[in-house]
Amino acid sequence: LPDAPVEALQAADVAALLPRPAADAHKYTRGVVGVRAGSATYPGAAVLSVSGAACGLAGMVRYDGDPAALDQVRAAHPEVVGPGRVQAWVVGSGSDAGAEDAVRRSVADDVPLLIDADALAFADLARGRATVLTPHAGELARLLDVERAQVEARMLEHARLAARRYDAVVLLKGRHTVVARPDGQVRVTTTGTPWLATAGAGDVLGGLVGALLAAGLDPFDAASAGSWLHGAAATLAAQDGPIVASDVAAALPVVLGSLVGT
Ligand code: AMP
Ligand code: MG
Repeated sequence: LPDAPVEALQAADVAALLPRPAADAHKYTRGVVGVRAGSATYPGAAVLSVSGAACGLAGMVRYDGDPAALDQVRAAHPEVVGPGRVQAWVVGSGSDAGAEDAVRRSVADDVPLLIDADALAFADLARGRATVLTPHAGELARLLDVERAQVEARMLEHARLAARRYDAVVLLKGRHTVVARPDGQVRVTTTGTPWLATAGAGDVLGGLVGALLAAGLDPFDAASAGSWLHGAAATLAAQDGPIVASDVAAALPVVLGSLVGT
């Protein structure tokens, strides 16, 4: 691949990308995001993906994942509604055996989609759609059939390779996050804290990026702004001590408010 530019995203860049609700906004114009995540085994993944979306600027969140997770989703987020039209899909985390079906049904709608975790194995089905893939190093290693250590040693190169191979934006998660476009352009985000190495943190990120897709950001902007915001929210939450993934979602509105106003 030719050397395309690498940008380190700053707060001002993110602020410029974020939508502000128009005076005459309604929930549909702000963006409806659909979540197909979670399962009987991993209901928490559904809750955390929904949290990331709901706290991340979505006008409305629809849950259409495994019904086994629905009660927990509703208990945590009474504002969530059932299946219907969406402007972006978030597919994957914790969806277990339902992952392939979730990708197939999401691809059938001509809207952008985010694919994470178990669903990454079916990323090929999303060719031709505006797609964001959100692997960590182990998941990307599996996709590219290389060793995890190789991905960790050369994050940029592997993110670019996958972006080109899948014709998708690839958000490679780790201590620093690399977001690559199929043409080789890369953004790196360095917000965040090692406290983010906690179960479910990636699920919150998926929901958040999905909300930004639904709001109309293009996949490269949604992925890179989402990664920056996720890290900033984690850092803010961790000021008081160790965090769990739901703390990251809870801190998102404060970070968003500081960038777009209240
Ligand atoms: P997942 O592996 O899907 O749960 O996603 C983990 C999330 O935490 C991603 O957003 C990572 O970028 C972030 N993360 C994991 N480990 C670290 C670390 N040591 N420092 C900063 N961020 C991290
Ligand atoms: Mg994950």
